[in-house]
Amino acid sequence: MARVGLREWLAIAPVIASGRLSRYGGGEGGPLARFEADFSTSFGVRHTLAVCNGTAALIAALVSAGIGPSDEVLVPAYTWIATAGAVLATGAVPVLVDIDETLTIDPLDIERKITPRTRAIIPVHMANMVCDMDSIMGIARRHGLVVVEDACQAVGASYKGRRVGTIGDAGAFSFNQFKNISIGEGGAIVTNDDRLFARARMYHDIGSVFRGHLDNANEPPFCGVNLKASQIQGAMLNVQLGKLDPMIARMRRRYDAMAAILTAARGPRVGPHNDRPNAIGLHVIFDTEKDAQAFASENPRGVHRVHDSSRHVYSFWQPILQQRAAHPRMDPFVWASRPMDYSQDVCARSLEILKRTCRISLGENYPLPVMTFLARRMGRHRNVPAPVYVATPDYGT
Ligand SMILES: *Cc1c(COP(=O)(O)O)cnc(C)c1O
Repeated sequence: MARVGLREWLAIAPVIASGRLSRYGGGEGGPLARFEADFSTSFGVRHTLAVCNGTAALIAALVSAGIGPSDEVLVPAYTWIATAGAVLATGAVPVLVDIDETLTIDPLDIERKITPRTRAIIPVHMANMVCDMDSIMGIARRHGLVVVEDACQAVGASYKGRRVGTIGDAGAFSFNQFKNISIGEGGAIVTNDDRLFARARMYHDIGSVFRGHLDNANEPPFCGVNLKASQIQGAMLNVQLGKLDPMIARMRRRYDAMAAILTAARGPRVGPHNDRPNAIGLHVIFDTEKDAQAFASENPRGVHRVHDSSRHVYSFWQPILQQRAAHPRMDPFVWASRPMDYSQDVCARSLEILKRTCRISLGENYPLPVMTFLARRMGRHRNVPAPVYVATPDYGT
Protein backbone atom coordinates (compact mmCIF):
# COMPACT_ATOMS: atom_id res chain seq x y z
CA MET A 1 0.00 0.00 0.00
CA ALA A 2 1.17 3.54 -0.75
CA ARG A 3 2.08 5.56 2.31
CA VAL A 4 0.00 8.58 3.27
CA GLY A 5 2.03 11.61 4.30
CA LEU A 6 2.88 15.24 3.89
CA ARG A 7 1.86 15.48 0.24
CA GLU A 8 -1.69 14.33 0.93
CA TRP A 9 -1.83 16.74 3.88
CA LEU A 10 -0.70 19.61 1.68
CA ALA A 11 -3.17 18.65 -1.05
CA ILE A 12 -6.23 18.82 1.18
CA ALA A 13 -5.34 22.26 2.63
CA PRO A 14 -6.45 24.28 -0.42
CA VAL A 15 -9.68 22.26 -0.63
CA ILE A 16 -10.46 23.13 2.96
CA ALA A 17 -9.51 26.78 2.34
CA SER A 18 -11.82 26.92 -0.70
CA GLY A 19 -14.80 25.73 1.32
CA ARG A 20 -15.84 23.56 -1.65
CA LEU A 21 -15.81 20.16 -0.04
CA SER A 22 -18.59 18.42 -1.96
CA ARG A 23 -18.80 17.15 -5.51
CA TYR A 24 -21.74 19.44 -6.32
CA GLY A 25 -22.52 22.92 -5.08
CA GLY A 26 -19.49 24.87 -6.27
CA GLY A 27 -17.05 22.00 -6.27
CA GLU A 28 -17.62 20.91 -9.89
CA GLY A 29 -14.42 20.56 -11.81
CA GLY A 30 -12.47 20.23 -8.55
CA PRO A 31 -10.09 17.49 -7.42
CA LEU A 32 -12.63 14.66 -7.91
CA ALA A 33 -13.14 15.51 -11.57
CA ARG A 34 -9.40 15.69 -12.08
CA PHE A 35 -8.91 12.33 -10.42
CA GLU A 36 -11.61 10.73 -12.56
CA ALA A 37 -10.07 12.08 -15.76
CA ASP A 38 -6.54 11.03 -14.78
CA PHE A 39 -7.64 7.60 -13.56
CA SER A 40 -9.51 6.99 -16.86
CA THR A 41 -6.40 7.95 -18.82
CA SER A 42 -4.02 5.91 -16.72
CA PHE A 43 -6.29 2.86 -16.73
CA GLY A 44 -7.32 3.14 -20.39
CA VAL A 45 -11.04 3.23 -19.67
CA ARG A 46 -13.82 5.53 -20.85
CA HIS A 47 -15.52 6.41 -17.55
CA THR A 48 -14.45 6.61 -13.92
CA LEU A 49 -16.82 7.53 -11.12
CA ALA A 50 -15.32 8.08 -7.67
CA VAL A 51 -17.60 6.96 -4.83
CA CYS A 52 -17.41 6.80 -1.03
CA ASN A 53 -15.94 3.27 -0.78
CA GLY A 54 -15.36 -0.01 -2.59
CA THR A 55 -18.53 -1.69 -1.35
CA ALA A 56 -20.51 1.22 -2.75
CA ALA A 57 -18.64 0.85 -6.03
CA LEU A 58 -19.65 -2.82 -6.25
CA ILE A 59 -23.28 -2.14 -5.39
CA ALA A 60 -23.55 0.74 -7.85
CA ALA A 61 -21.87 -1.28 -10.60
CA LEU A 62 -24.22 -4.25 -10.09
CA VAL A 63 -27.35 -2.10 -9.90
CA SER A 64 -26.26 -0.13 -12.97
CA ALA A 65 -25.78 -3.38 -14.87
CA GLY A 66 -29.40 -4.28 -14.05
CA ILE A 67 -28.78 -6.89 -11.35
CA GLY A 68 -31.60 -7.25 -8.81
CA PRO A 69 -34.09 -9.48 -6.95
CA SER A 70 -34.15 -13.20 -7.87
CA ASP A 71 -30.86 -12.95 -9.77
CA GLU A 72 -27.94 -15.20 -8.85
CA VAL A 73 -24.45 -13.74 -8.86
CA LEU A 74 -21.33 -15.93 -8.77
CA VAL A 75 -18.76 -14.89 -6.18
CA PRO A 76 -15.57 -16.68 -5.10
CA ALA A 77 -15.27 -18.49 -1.78
CA TYR A 78 -12.16 -16.44 -0.98
CA THR A 79 -12.82 -12.69 -0.88
CA TRP A 80 -13.74 -9.97 1.59
CA ILE A 81 -17.36 -10.42 2.72
CA ALA A 82 -18.22 -7.10 1.01
CA THR A 83 -18.27 -8.84 -2.39
CA ALA A 84 -21.12 -11.12 -1.33
CA GLY A 85 -22.73 -8.37 0.77
CA ALA A 86 -22.87 -6.06 -2.24
CA VAL A 87 -24.83 -8.70 -4.14
CA LEU A 88 -27.39 -8.92 -1.33
CA ALA A 89 -27.67 -5.12 -1.25
CA THR A 90 -29.00 -5.22 -4.82
CA GLY A 91 -31.64 -7.82 -3.89
CA ALA A 92 -29.80 -10.65 -5.67
CA VAL A 93 -28.19 -13.64 -3.95
CA PRO A 94 -24.53 -14.70 -4.03
CA VAL A 95 -23.65 -18.21 -5.19
CA LEU A 96 -20.32 -19.43 -3.85
CA VAL A 97 -17.75 -20.65 -6.35
CA ASP A 98 -14.49 -22.47 -5.62
CA ILE A 99 -11.09 -20.89 -6.14
CA ASP A 100 -8.12 -22.72 -7.64
CA GLU A 101 -4.42 -22.58 -6.71
CA THR A 102 -4.14 -19.07 -8.21
CA LEU A 103 -6.35 -18.08 -5.23
CA THR A 104 -8.89 -16.64 -7.67
CA ILE A 105 -12.25 -17.91 -8.92
CA ASP A 106 -11.99 -21.23 -10.76
CA PRO A 107 -13.47 -20.98 -14.29
CA LEU A 108 -14.35 -24.70 -14.23
CA ASP A 109 -16.43 -24.24 -11.09
CA ILE A 110 -18.08 -21.13 -12.60
CA GLU A 111 -19.44 -23.39 -15.36
CA ARG A 112 -20.71 -25.87 -12.78
CA LYS A 113 -22.50 -23.20 -10.72
CA ILE A 114 -24.36 -21.50 -13.58
CA THR A 115 -28.16 -21.94 -13.44
CA PRO A 116 -30.94 -20.36 -15.52
CA ARG A 117 -31.07 -17.62 -12.81
CA THR A 118 -27.39 -16.69 -13.02
CA ARG A 119 -27.00 -13.12 -14.24
CA ALA A 120 -23.49 -12.03 -13.29
CA ILE A 121 -20.00 -13.11 -12.26
CA ILE A 122 -17.81 -11.13 -9.88
CA PRO A 123 -14.20 -12.19 -10.45
CA VAL A 124 -12.21 -10.93 -7.46
CA HIS A 125 -8.56 -10.10 -7.99
CA MET A 126 -7.56 -11.03 -4.46
CA ALA A 127 -4.40 -9.78 -2.82
CA ASN A 128 -3.03 -8.40 -6.09
CA MET A 129 -3.48 -11.78 -7.78
CA VAL A 130 -5.34 -11.57 -11.09
CA CYS A 131 -8.19 -13.80 -12.30
CA ASP A 132 -8.15 -15.87 -15.48
CA MET A 133 -10.03 -13.13 -17.34
CA ASP A 134 -9.79 -14.75 -20.79
CA SER A 135 -11.67 -17.84 -19.60
CA ILE A 136 -14.11 -15.81 -17.48
CA MET A 137 -15.01 -13.41 -20.30
CA GLY A 138 -15.43 -16.39 -22.64
CA ILE A 139 -17.87 -18.10 -20.25
CA ALA A 140 -19.74 -14.85 -19.66
CA ARG A 141 -20.20 -14.18 -23.36
CA ARG A 142 -21.37 -17.75 -24.01
CA HIS A 143 -23.96 -17.57 -21.23
CA GLY A 144 -24.93 -13.90 -21.59
CA LEU A 145 -23.67 -12.95 -18.13
CA VAL A 146 -22.55 -9.56 -16.83
CA VAL A 147 -18.99 -9.36 -15.46
CA VAL A 148 -18.32 -6.91 -12.64
CA GLU A 149 -14.68 -7.15 -11.63
CA ASP A 150 -13.89 -6.67 -7.94
CA ALA A 151 -10.45 -5.10 -8.24
CA CYS A 152 -10.60 -3.62 -4.74
CA GLN A 153 -7.47 -5.51 -3.66
CA ALA A 154 -5.58 -5.12 -6.93
CA VAL A 155 -5.75 -1.43 -7.85
CA GLY A 156 -3.30 -0.94 -10.71
CA ALA A 157 -2.47 -4.63 -11.30
CA SER A 158 -2.50 -5.82 -14.91
CA TYR A 159 -3.71 -8.90 -16.77
CA LYS A 160 -2.08 -9.40 -20.18
CA GLY A 161 -1.44 -5.71 -20.67
CA ARG A 162 -4.77 -4.39 -19.38
CA ARG A 163 -5.50 -3.07 -15.92
CA VAL A 164 -7.77 -5.34 -13.96
CA GLY A 165 -11.16 -3.72 -13.43
CA THR A 166 -11.27 -2.50 -17.04
CA ILE A 167 -11.78 -5.89 -18.70
CA GLY A 168 -15.34 -6.80 -17.64
CA ASP A 169 -18.51 -4.75 -18.13
CA ALA A 170 -17.60 -2.71 -15.06
CA GLY A 171 -14.92 -2.70 -12.38
CA ALA A 172 -14.95 -1.71 -8.72
CA PHE A 173 -12.00 -0.36 -6.75
CA SER A 174 -11.48 0.38 -3.08
CA PHE A 175 -9.15 3.02 -1.69
CA ASN A 176 -9.48 2.16 1.99
CA GLN A 177 -6.54 2.13 4.35
CA PHE A 178 -5.36 -1.36 3.35
CA LYS A 179 -5.48 -1.05 -0.42
CA ASN A 180 -2.88 -0.07 -3.04
CA ILE A 181 -4.32 3.45 -3.20
CA SER A 182 -4.97 4.32 0.39
CA ILE A 183 -6.99 7.32 1.62
CA GLY A 184 -8.92 5.87 4.57
CA GLU A 185 -12.23 5.33 2.74
CA GLY A 186 -12.88 5.66 -0.97
CA GLY A 187 -13.77 3.78 -4.11
CA ALA A 188 -14.40 4.03 -7.83
CA ILE A 189 -16.37 2.42 -10.62
CA VAL A 190 -14.94 2.16 -14.11
CA THR A 191 -16.69 1.18 -17.32
CA ASN A 192 -16.54 1.66 -21.07
CA ASP A 193 -20.34 1.51 -21.27
CA ASP A 194 -22.02 4.94 -21.50
CA ARG A 195 -25.36 3.69 -20.26
CA LEU A 196 -23.90 1.81 -17.30
CA PHE A 197 -21.97 4.95 -16.38
CA ALA A 198 -25.07 7.17 -16.62
CA ARG A 199 -26.97 4.74 -14.37
CA ALA A 200 -24.11 4.55 -11.88
CA ARG A 201 -23.93 8.33 -11.69
CA MET A 202 -27.70 8.48 -11.03
CA TYR A 203 -27.69 5.67 -8.52
CA HIS A 204 -24.76 7.07 -6.53
CA ASP A 205 -26.39 10.52 -6.21
CA ILE A 206 -29.98 10.52 -5.08
CA GLY A 207 -30.47 14.00 -6.45
CA SER A 208 -28.81 13.38 -9.77
CA VAL A 209 -31.80 14.68 -11.72
CA PHE A 210 -31.03 18.19 -10.45
CA ARG A 211 -27.39 18.16 -11.56
CA GLY A 212 -27.93 18.95 -15.22
CA HIS A 213 -25.92 16.07 -16.68
CA LEU A 214 -26.63 16.29 -20.38
CA ASP A 215 -24.80 13.10 -21.38
CA ASN A 216 -27.21 10.72 -19.63
CA ALA A 217 -27.38 8.15 -22.46
CA ASN A 218 -31.16 8.78 -22.63
CA GLU A 219 -31.55 6.98 -19.32
CA PRO A 220 -34.80 8.01 -17.61
CA PRO A 221 -34.17 9.22 -14.05
CA PHE A 222 -34.61 6.83 -11.13
CA CYS A 223 -34.03 7.33 -7.46
CA GLY A 224 -30.74 6.05 -6.08
CA VAL A 225 -28.97 6.49 -2.76
CA ASN A 226 -26.05 8.72 -1.78
CA LEU A 227 -22.67 7.10 -2.29
CA LYS A 228 -20.79 10.25 -3.26
CA ALA A 229 -17.15 10.93 -2.53
CA SER A 230 -15.96 14.29 -1.21
CA GLN A 231 -13.43 16.70 -2.70
CA ILE A 232 -11.14 15.97 0.24
CA GLN A 233 -11.06 12.34 -0.89
CA GLY A 234 -10.45 13.65 -4.42
CA ALA A 235 -7.46 15.73 -3.34
CA MET A 236 -5.88 12.76 -1.55
CA LEU A 237 -6.63 10.46 -4.49
CA ASN A 238 -4.75 12.73 -6.89
CA VAL A 239 -1.60 12.46 -4.79
CA GLN A 240 -1.98 8.72 -4.30
CA LEU A 241 -2.58 8.05 -8.00
CA GLY A 242 0.84 9.55 -8.68
CA LYS A 243 2.37 7.01 -6.28
CA LEU A 244 0.62 3.98 -7.77
CA ASP A 245 2.75 3.03 -10.77
CA PRO A 246 6.12 3.53 -9.05
CA MET A 247 4.80 1.32 -6.24
CA ILE A 248 3.67 -1.37 -8.69
CA ALA A 249 7.14 -1.27 -10.29
CA ARG A 250 8.67 -1.88 -6.83
CA MET A 251 6.28 -4.79 -6.28
CA ARG A 252 7.20 -6.26 -9.68
CA ARG A 253 10.93 -6.17 -8.85
CA ARG A 254 10.36 -7.75 -5.47
CA TYR A 255 8.09 -10.45 -6.90
CA ASP A 256 10.67 -11.48 -9.49
CA ALA A 257 13.59 -11.42 -7.05
CA MET A 258 11.80 -13.27 -4.27
CA ALA A 259 10.14 -15.86 -6.53
CA ALA A 260 13.53 -16.59 -8.16
CA ILE A 261 15.20 -17.10 -4.77
CA LEU A 262 12.44 -19.42 -3.54
CA THR A 263 12.51 -21.43 -6.75
CA ALA A 264 16.31 -21.77 -6.79
CA ALA A 265 16.33 -22.79 -3.12
CA ARG A 266 13.92 -25.63 -3.87
CA GLY A 267 12.01 -24.39 -0.87
CA PRO A 268 8.29 -23.77 -0.82
CA ARG A 269 6.57 -24.03 -4.20
CA VAL A 270 5.62 -20.65 -5.68
CA GLY A 271 1.91 -20.69 -6.49
CA PRO A 272 0.58 -20.44 -10.05
CA HIS A 273 -0.40 -17.04 -11.42
CA ASN A 274 -2.74 -16.12 -14.27
CA ASP A 275 -0.26 -13.60 -15.71
CA ARG A 276 3.17 -14.46 -14.37
CA PRO A 277 5.12 -11.71 -16.26
CA ASN A 278 2.97 -9.03 -14.58
CA ALA A 279 2.67 -10.67 -11.16
CA ILE A 280 2.55 -8.44 -8.08
CA GLY A 281 1.11 -10.97 -5.63
CA LEU A 282 3.24 -13.78 -4.19
CA HIS A 283 2.01 -16.98 -2.56
CA VAL A 284 3.48 -20.39 -1.86
CA ILE A 285 1.67 -23.71 -1.67
CA PHE A 286 2.54 -26.72 0.45
CA ASP A 287 1.49 -30.34 0.35
CA THR A 288 0.00 -30.26 3.78
CA GLU A 289 -1.76 -27.86 6.11
CA LYS A 290 0.86 -28.52 8.79
CA ASP A 291 3.64 -27.44 6.49
CA ALA A 292 1.96 -24.15 5.69
CA GLN A 293 1.44 -23.57 9.41
CA ALA A 294 5.09 -24.34 10.14
CA PHE A 295 6.28 -22.00 7.37
CA ALA A 296 4.10 -19.16 8.65
CA SER A 297 5.37 -19.55 12.20
CA GLU A 298 9.02 -19.81 11.06
CA ASN A 299 8.59 -16.54 9.14
CA PRO A 300 6.50 -14.24 11.27
CA ARG A 301 7.49 -11.19 9.20
CA GLY A 302 5.47 -10.77 6.06
CA VAL A 303 4.06 -14.30 5.86
CA HIS A 304 0.63 -15.54 6.78
CA ARG A 305 -1.29 -18.67 6.04
CA VAL A 306 -4.20 -17.55 3.91
CA HIS A 307 -6.84 -19.52 5.79
CA ASP A 308 -5.83 -17.68 8.98
CA SER A 309 -7.09 -14.37 7.55
CA SER A 310 -10.43 -15.94 8.27
CA ARG A 311 -12.59 -12.94 7.46
CA HIS A 312 -11.75 -13.49 3.79
CA VAL A 313 -12.97 -17.09 3.82
CA TYR A 314 -16.66 -17.78 3.18
CA SER A 315 -16.99 -20.26 6.03
CA PHE A 316 -16.61 -17.33 8.46
CA TRP A 317 -19.21 -15.04 6.85
CA GLN A 318 -21.86 -15.58 9.51
CA PRO A 319 -24.18 -12.71 8.48
CA ILE A 320 -24.44 -14.21 5.00
CA LEU A 321 -24.39 -17.91 5.88
CA GLN A 322 -27.29 -17.34 8.29
CA GLN A 323 -29.27 -15.69 5.48
CA ARG A 324 -30.59 -12.88 7.64
CA ALA A 325 -31.81 -9.57 6.26
CA ALA A 326 -32.26 -6.18 7.98
CA HIS A 327 -35.99 -6.34 7.28
CA PRO A 328 -37.90 -9.61 6.88
CA ARG A 329 -39.67 -8.38 3.76
CA MET A 330 -36.61 -6.82 2.16
CA ASP A 331 -34.99 -10.22 2.03
CA PRO A 332 -33.15 -11.36 -1.10
CA PHE A 333 -33.32 -14.97 0.10
CA VAL A 334 -37.14 -14.80 -0.01
CA TRP A 335 -36.99 -13.44 -3.57
CA ALA A 336 -34.51 -16.10 -4.69
CA SER A 337 -35.88 -18.86 -6.93
CA ARG A 338 -34.40 -21.64 -4.78
CA PRO A 339 -32.84 -22.18 -1.34
CA MET A 340 -29.15 -21.26 -1.25
CA ASP A 341 -26.58 -23.80 -0.15
CA TYR A 342 -24.25 -22.08 2.30
CA SER A 343 -23.20 -25.18 4.21
CA GLN A 344 -19.71 -25.10 5.72
CA ASP A 345 -18.32 -27.44 3.09
CA VAL A 346 -20.02 -25.99 0.00
CA CYS A 347 -16.56 -24.96 -1.26
CA ALA A 348 -14.48 -27.57 0.53
CA ARG A 349 -11.77 -27.51 -2.12
CA SER A 350 -11.20 -23.79 -1.53
CA LEU A 351 -10.80 -24.39 2.21
CA GLU A 352 -8.34 -27.17 1.52
CA ILE A 353 -6.23 -24.92 -0.75
CA LEU A 354 -6.34 -21.93 1.61
CA LYS A 355 -5.19 -24.11 4.52
CA ARG A 356 -1.98 -25.12 2.77
CA THR A 357 -1.19 -21.76 1.17
CA CYS A 358 0.80 -18.83 2.57
CA ARG A 359 0.83 -15.29 1.24
CA ILE A 360 4.17 -13.50 1.25
CA SER A 361 4.23 -9.72 1.50
CA LEU A 362 6.38 -8.06 -1.17
CA GLY A 363 7.36 -5.31 1.28
CA GLU A 364 7.20 -2.61 -1.37
CA ASN A 365 8.00 0.07 1.18
CA TYR A 366 11.16 -1.73 2.34
CA PRO A 367 14.51 -1.84 0.50
CA LEU A 368 14.84 -4.70 -1.97
CA PRO A 369 17.84 -6.29 -0.12
CA VAL A 370 15.71 -6.64 3.01
CA MET A 371 13.13 -8.57 1.03
CA THR A 372 15.67 -10.79 -0.73
CA PHE A 373 17.25 -11.51 2.66
CA LEU A 374 13.86 -12.60 3.99
CA ALA A 375 13.22 -14.67 0.84
CA ARG A 376 16.53 -16.53 1.30
CA ARG A 377 15.52 -17.35 4.84
CA MET A 378 12.12 -18.54 3.63
CA GLY A 379 13.83 -20.65 0.97
CA ARG A 380 15.56 -22.69 3.69
CA HIS A 381 12.23 -24.09 4.82
CA ARG A 382 11.99 -27.83 4.30
CA ASN A 383 8.77 -29.74 4.29
CA VAL A 384 7.96 -31.48 7.50
CA PRO A 385 8.41 -35.11 6.50
CA ALA A 386 5.34 -37.24 6.75
CA PRO A 387 5.54 -39.53 9.80
CA VAL A 388 7.23 -42.78 8.85
CA TYR A 389 5.51 -45.94 10.03
CA VAL A 390 8.03 -48.17 11.72
CA ALA A 391 6.83 -51.72 12.09
CA THR A 392 7.26 -53.16 15.54
CA PRO A 393 9.75 -56.00 15.25
CA ASP A 394 8.15 -59.32 15.50
CA TYR A 395 10.13 -61.32 18.01
CA GLY A 396 8.24 -64.43 17.12
CA THR A 397 6.90 -65.02 20.61
C1 LIG B 1 -11.80 -3.82 0.53
C2 LIG B 1 -12.62 -4.70 -0.30
C3 LIG B 1 -13.92 -4.39 -0.69
C4 LIG B 1 -14.70 -3.24 -0.15
O1 LIG B 1 -14.06 -2.05 -0.07
P1 LIG B 1 -14.40 -0.95 1.03
O2 LIG B 1 -13.76 0.27 0.44
O3 LIG B 1 -13.80 -1.38 2.31
O4 LIG B 1 -15.88 -0.84 1.08
C5 LIG B 1 -14.57 -5.24 -1.56
N1 LIG B 1 -13.98 -6.35 -2.03
C6 LIG B 1 -12.75 -6.70 -1.67
C7 LIG B 1 -12.14 -7.94 -2.23
C8 LIG B 1 -12.02 -5.90 -0.78
O5 LIG B 1 -10.82 -6.29 -0.39
